[in-house]
Order: sequence, then structure tokens, then C-alpha cells
Amino acid sequence: MKKQNVLIVGGGLAGICIAIQCIDAGHSVTLIDKGVNRSSAVAAGMINPLVFRRMTKSWRVDEFIPYSENFYRDLELRTGASFFHPIVIRRCIASEQEAGYWKDRANDPLFSAYIQAFDKEDAEIHPEQRPFGSARVNHSSYVSAEHFMAACRTFIEKNGTYIRAAFEFDQFEPSACTYLGQRFDQAIFCEGSEAVKNPYFGKLPVEATKGEILTVQAQSLPQHESLNRKCFCLPVEPNTFRIGATYVWHTDNVIPTQEGKEMLLDNLRFLTDEKVEIIDHRAGVRPTSPDRRPIMGTHPTYPKVHIFNGLGAKGYMMAPLLAQELLESIVDGKTLDRELRLDRFF
Ligand SMILES: Cc1cc2nc3c(=O)[nH]c(=O)nc-3n(C[C@H](O)[C@H](O)[C@H](O)COP(=O)(O)OP(=O)(O)OC[C@H]3O[C@@H](n4cnc5c(N)ncnc54)[C@H](O)[C@@H]3O)c2cc1C
Repeated sequence: MKKQNVLIVGGGLAGICIAIQCIDAGHSVTLIDKGVNRSSAVAAGMINPLVFRRMTKSWRVDEFIPYSENFYRDLELRTGASFFHPIVIRRCIASEQEAGYWKDRANDPLFSAYIQAFDKEDAEIHPEQRPFGSARVNHSSYVSAEHFMAACRTFIEKNGTYIRAAFEFDQFEPSACTYLGQRFDQAIFCEGSEAVKNPYFGKLPVEATKGEILTVQAQSLPQHESLNRKCFCLPVEPNTFRIGATYVWHTDNVIPTQEGKEMLLDNLRFLTDEKVEIIDHRAGVRPTSPDRRPIMGTHPTYPKVHIFNGLGAKGYMMAPLLAQELLESIVDGKTLDRELRLDRFF
């Protein structure tokens, strides 16, 4: 297949990852972003291979984890920036039943790569609040969104075209794939929760799931691991932690609320008694889908028009590999995983 001239709309995590995959495959990239990011820039960027609620592995985790680790590390080398940080997640176990799950999983070879230790007696901090011990998760990490996005923007500017503007749908002709008179081979829409405004994909069920997150200063919380129970507590600077995140379905505004703040502070009390100092409070909107799977693929009428969306709460783990899979489906005609394809909604 000849090298493609690709137009990407949206410069959040999805747009960035597809732009980098295009550049690496030798395609020409024009990325348009209006500069109002509502999710990727607010995110804690955590990569957790497990789903604690049910103590299962995340969907396709054995593929996503090695791929994303290589992707972010390689990008750090190429951009000279530092944004990928491995960190152990320490789950503080909430009940006898959860302790049972962990004990079972710790002996299950399918989970062994992701569980470092299950310590029933562990009561290093606040023993009265942690009567069931804790467990440590391997292959967990976080991507510092601010540094990642800044480094990627510079990388895309150097290797393609980055335009800071709102995309004008009335200037786009989807059959010929022309925008403002310029012809492209492919157009990939990555507008996150704003996909509902897209005239070609607006009927897809990209849902808005609001999340709030605090940045606090504290002396008593651990610096070398991310505690988790009811909330996560991610050390990002000395004595500085991100506490998150709330999860409110079908809510499409980025206004931090008193209710969200109080909920996070209440949850934090399961991890420390300290009265922490809040230094930042933000809200964002995750693009989610009803079946919790991303939404990707080609428009049924316009073969040059595609979507990459619905990354949900685990975007930082999934986006690098999914971007590669989407590009291969567009350029090489490979079939996408049917759990991702947008025809599941038709
Ligand atoms: C509080 C919170 C915490 C989170 N924590 C984590 C976490 O720890 N780990 C994790 O993996 N994920 C986390 N997420 C989820 C993660 O942020 C998302 O999965 C992911 O960032 C979505 O990326 P996106 O590119 O699809 O959307 P977005 O980041 O919303 O990007 C969409 C982009 O499109 C642009 N755009 C939209 N419309 C137009 C237009 N018409 N013209 C031009 N540009 C346009 C916007 O400017 C924006 O930059 C969190 C989210 C929130 C809100």
C-alpha cells in the first residue's frame, strides 16, 4: 500500500497514538486539535493490569501491557522526555472475601505475572483500617499526562503537521476526503467525548463519564508505591499525590464539585488519617461505551473516514496497541477485533 496522507482530528491520547503509529509507518500526518482537552490531560495515566472490583485481569492485558511499556519507553528515548513511571500498586484489601480472591489468584499461573505478593498480615500503615492485609501488583505504572502530551506534540510538529484549531465539519467532504480543499487519503476522528457532535459518527454510543481528581500534599502517604482502596493515591512529586477518581456516568461537564471533592477525601480516609492539603482539583470526561470496549473502525458509507474512540478508564494501557491495529485495518485491510468494531452497534 502506498504511503498515506492522513488527517487526524483530536490530539488527546487516541489522536496522539494514531499519529505516532502513522509517522512510524512512514505516512504523512496532519493533526488538528482545538486545544480543549477534557480527558487525557486530566487523567492520572495509571496502567493497572487488574480489575480490583472482580479481581480479574483487564481485557487483553497480556497483549496491552508489554506493548504499551515498549511504546512509552521507546517514545521517551526518541523525544528525550520523561513521562513513563513504573510503580507498584498496593491494594489494601477490604474484606475476607476479597482476601480469598487474592489468595486464589496469587496461586494461579495466569495471574502470576501481575501479583507480586499477597501479605495477609501486612499492616504497615493503619492496621485497624487494614485488617485483611494488602497485595502488590506488578507491571503497573503511570504516564505523566502533561509531559507525555507536551513531548508528543513536539514530536508530531517535527515529523508532521500539528494545527491548533477547531475542525470545521462544513469544510470536510467525506467521499473525496478533502478538508479546506486539501485532499487526504484517510481521515481519523479522535474527539473523545465530543464525538457526539460529529456528523458521521455522532449516533455511535460514545458516552460521557465524568471523573474528578485531586492533587494533595501529605506527609504520611508512601512515596514508593500507589496505595489503593476505594480510591488511588499516586505519588507524583515528593509529598505530592494524585487522589482519584470519581466515576459519574452520563455526565458531560468538567466542573469540579464539592460533592466530588468530599467523596475523594472520604475515600482517602481509608488510607490515611492525615488532614491533607488540597493543591489542585480537576474534573474531566472519559469517553466510554455501553459495553466498556473502545469503538474503532471505518464509516459504513465513507471508506476513507474512521473513528478511534471509547478508550474509557484504561486508555493509557490500550491506546498504543489499538492505534496500531486500527492503522493496520485501514492501510492493510486487516480485520479488527469484533469486540472493538463499530458495526456491533448497527
Ligand atoms: C479524572 C480522570 C482520570 C483518569 N485516569 C485515568 C488513568 O489513570 N488511566 C487511564 O488509562 N485513563 C484514565 N482516564 C481516561 C483517559 O483519560 C481516557 O481513556 C483517554 O485519555 C481518552 O483519550 P481521547 O483522546 O479519546 O479523548 P480526549 O483526551 O478527550 O481527547 C479528545 C481531543 O479531541 C479534541 N477535539 C474534540 N473535538 C474537536 C474538534 N471539533 N476539532 C478539533 N479538536 C477536537 C479535543 O481538543 C481533545 O484534545 C481518566 C480520565 C479522567 C477524566
